[in-house]
Amino acid sequence: MTKQELSSALKSVNVPERENKMRVNQLWHWIYFQGLSDFQNMLNVSKSLRQTLSESFTLNIPEIVEEQISIDGTRKWLIKLPPQNASDNGAEIECVYIPENDRGTLCISSQVGCTLTCSFCHTGTQKLVRNLSTSEIVGQLLVARKRLGDFPGLVKAQDGLVPSGEGMRAITNIVFMGMGEPLYNLKNVTEAIQIISDGDGLSLSKRRITVSTSGIVPEMTQLGQDCGTMLAVSLHAVRDDLRNTLVPINKKYPIKELLTACRNYPGASNARRITFEYVMLKGVNDTLSDAKELVRLLKGLPAKINLIPFNPWPGAPYECSDWSTIEKFSDIVFNAGYASPVRTPRGRDILAACGQLKSETEKLRARARLVTM
Ligand code: SAH
Ligand code: SF4
Repeated sequence: MTKQELSSALKSVNVPERENKMRVNQLWHWIYFQGLSDFQNMLNVSKSLRQTLSESFTLNIPEIVEEQISIDGTRKWLIKLPPQNASDNGAEIECVYIPENDRGTLCISSQVGCTLTCSFCHTGTQKLVRNLSTSEIVGQLLVARKRLGDFPGLVKAQDGLVPSGEGMRAITNIVFMGMGEPLYNLKNVTEAIQIISDGDGLSLSKRRITVSTSGIVPEMTQLGQDCGTMLAVSLHAVRDDLRNTLVPINKKYPIKELLTACRNYPGASNARRITFEYVMLKGVNDTLSDAKELVRLLKGLPAKINLIPFNPWPGAPYECSDWSTIEKFSDIVFNAGYASPVRTPRGRDILAACGQLKSETEKLRARARLVTM
């Protein structure tokens, strides 16, 4: 819940108006700062209110049903969502934790599956699609923090790489780069960001939250105005004919319109650059003239370019560009004055890397290292 929703919820169980604000703050602290999931432990809340709250509400969070840990320390969690109604038997989503020495990034999902069908993305082949609720989006962060021992009073996970050091949180950054198109679920994504970035609770700075979109132009301005988070755009091609096949939503919102929306994106500046994601597909979009055209297209935009080596999945119709091609491509972009980091593939062995997510674990059992919770 957002603070407003929490306030209305308290009204609905007859908490007096004069206490409302104080109670909202108390609950907010227990739920989002301390990470409690039981009203009974909220010691500064009166016994009778604790009782009323437990009878009327739950603090259930989604459940990790499987965890796979990659040899590079990346973790992929299969998360079972609580049923939303009687006919729903609980959808599953995937959420990925990418630890480094000095930061920990949580890659979260905004939808179960995705309605878009980018030809290089595994998620787009999943049949079942629905939007995640606000609580299911925030729930991914809560469940991850609990698993990693990243709430007061918990012990940091010892069974894999988790950044450590004075005051270091296990999760420092969030990217909406898991399953789904966040801008097709903008209302819930916006509310989730509001909750996640609130300084009295989960406290993740908006500068450390990145929303990645395939380019849903009409929603981009709204995102910039309401959220103030960092933006990443999945460009992947510099010509409309090619982008139409790689990212079919391009037929609706072609490159020119997309880049105009980026130029007008509220809050973009040299200090807050837009990341352009570009997946490196062998013989498809990786020529040096593609690189030059990319630089030309982005001229004047506060941009950085993130080259993503293609991550293969069973039956994928592409191969990853050769390393030397990626380097040459990156050099052209870099020499034109853009930061051009190549995204190190993480968790490929457990199909946890970009575009490999698909909640279909049966296939994975045989091939991946599996740790049952
Ligand atoms: N739907 C959003 C966010 C999720 S995808 C979007 O498309 O932007 C996150 C990133 O992974 C996108 O840039 C996407 O294009 C990229 N991606 C998808 N499949 C991939 C694959 N197989 N290899 C590498 N990157 C991939
Ligand atoms: Fe959906 Fe993004 Fe995958 Fe395209 S790349 S199918 S928009 S999740």
